[in-house]
Amino acid sequence: MPSVRNTIGGRHGEPSGEQRYRAINPAKLGDVIAEYPFSSTGDIDQAVEAARAAFPAWRGRTAAQRAEILMKAGALLQAQAATLGALMTREMGKPLAEAVAEVGYAGRVLQFYAAEAQRPIGEVLASGRPDVHYYTQREPIGPVGLITPWNFPFSIACWKLGPALITGNTAVWKPAPHHPFCSQALLDYLMDAGLPDGVVNLVHGGAEAGAAIVGNHALPGIAFTGSTPVGQAIFRSVSDRLGRAQCEMGGKNGLYVHAAADLARAAGLAVEGGFRSAGQKCTATSRVLVDRAILPAFSEIFLDRVNALKVGDPLAPDVFLGPVVDDRQFAKVRAHIAQAADEGIAIAAGGLNRPQDGGYFVAPTVFTDVAPTARIAQEEVFGPVVALIPVAGLDEAISVLNATEYGLSSTIVTNDLRAAQRFARDVECGVINVNLPTAGVEMHAPFGGWKGSGLGAPEQGLKIMDFYTHWRSVAMNFS
Ligand code: NAD
Repeated sequence: MPSVRNTIGGRHGEPSGEQRYRAINPAKLGDVIAEYPFSSTGDIDQAVEAARAAFPAWRGRTAAQRAEILMKAGALLQAQAATLGALMTREMGKPLAEAVAEVGYAGRVLQFYAAEAQRPIGEVLASGRPDVHYYTQREPIGPVGLITPWNFPFSIACWKLGPALITGNTAVWKPAPHHPFCSQALLDYLMDAGLPDGVVNLVHGGAEAGAAIVGNHALPGIAFTGSTPVGQAIFRSVSDRLGRAQCEMGGKNGLYVHAAADLARAAGLAVEGGFRSAGQKCTATSRVLVDRAILPAFSEIFLDRVNALKVGDPLAPDVFLGPVVDDRQFAKVRAHIAQAADEGIAIAAGGLNRPQDGGYFVAPTVFTDVAPTARIAQEEVFGPVVALIPVAGLDEAISVLNATEYGLSSTIVTNDLRAAQRFARDVECGVINVNLPTAGVEMHAPFGGWKGSGLGAPEQGLKIMDFYTHWRSVAMNFS
C-alpha cells in the first residue's frame, strides 16, 4: 500500500498527528485504500510557514509565468483523466464516467484561470486633480488556507487553486481525508508543470487540521467548501481575527414541475438532479414540487424511471449511482429515511433495503405527499433521497422553495415564459435553472449560495478574484 504524504515546502513526509484514519473504497469495503495519521498542529504550522516563505517570489513572478504552469497542469490532468477518474471512483465511489469527466473539467478550470494572465488587473481613473495619474490594481492577499470536501476531489480544489494561484497567492490546502491519492496526484501534476516548492502545501487531516488552518493568523484568507454549520463557524472565527473567509455550503435544492411542463423532460431532470453521484452534490435535487393537477401523471413517469435506475459497482458502465461515500454518510442518509418513514410519510421507491451488499449502497428513494415543513423537506440529506411535494401553483411553489434556511439552486420545468420569468425573479437562491437540472453550472458563471448556502464572494467565474485580491488605489502627482 503506498504511503500518504504531506507535501510541505516541496518535501514529502508522513503526517505526524496521533489520530489515524482508514480510507476505504465505499463500493468494496474490504479494499483499504490507505491507513494513515492525520496532520498535527505542528504540521499545519510548518505548512503555513512554507506558504509564507514562498509568497514573495511567487507574487514576484509575472502572471504570464504563473499561467504557463496552470496551463500545463490543466493539460496534464486532461491527458490523465482516465487514470485519475478510476482512482477517484475507487477512493470515493463516483461512477467512472462522471469521475473521468470531473478530472477533465478540473483541468479546464485551471486553464480558464490561466487565461486571466492576459486580462487587466486594474483600471485608470480620471483624477480631479491636475497632473495626477490615478489607477487601481489588484494585489494578492498572501498565503491562503483552502479546505475542500470529498464530493468533487478535483474540481472544487481547482475552483480554489486556479484563482488563488493566478493572482499570486500561495496556499495551504487541506482536502477531505477520503481520497488522499487524488489530492496528491493533483499537487504532483501542478509540481510537474513547474509549480515551485512551497507555493501549494498539501496537508492531510480532518476537522482538527482544518481548525488549525482556520485559526492561523498568518493566513489572511480562508476558502472553504463543505457543510453549513462548519462554514458558518469558520466565517465567524476568521472574521473575528480580521481575516476574510469565503464559504460555499449546503443546499436543499428544489425542482418545480409547473402545470405547463413537458412531463417526460421534467422526470428526466428530476432523476438527473436527484440521483447522479448518489445525490451527493451540493446542488442535488432533494425536493421535487409538482402542481397537483399533473401530480399523478408526473409521478407515474418519474417513479418508473427511478425504479429502473441501476445501483452498484461504480466502475460498471451501466450503473447510474454508486455507493455513498463512507460509514458516516451511510448511517446519516439511512437515519433520514428511517425518521421520515417513522413520521408516516409514504415511500414510493427505495427505502432502507440495501440494493447491493459489500458497500455503502442506498437505493434511490422517493417520499411522496411530503409536507413542506417535514424534516425530510427541510434538512440537507446529501444522499439519493427525493421528497415529492404537491403544490397549488407557481405562487405556492415559490414560497415553499424559499421557506428553508438554504438558497443554492432551483429549477422550474415549464413551457410558460411568464412562469419562468417570475420564478427566476422571486426564488431566493444563487443559481436558477429553467428546463435544466438543479446540478451543474458552467465554470465562467458565478456560483454562490444565498442564506445558509454561502457566505462571502461567490466561487467560479471572475467574481471570486475579489476574494483572492486586495484592491489598491494609487494616486501619483507628477507635476
Ligand atoms: P464538512 O463540512 O464535514 O467538511 C468539509 C471540509 O471541512 C473537510 O475537508 C473537513 O475535513 C473540513 N472540516 C470539518 N470540520 C472542520 C472544522 N471544524 N474546521 C475546519 N475544517 C473542518 O462537509 P463534507 O461532509 O465533507 O461535505 C459535504 C457538505 O459539503 C454538504 O453539506 C454539501 O452541501 C457541501 N458542499 C457544498 C458545495 C458548494 O459549493 N456549495 C460543494 C460541495 C459540497
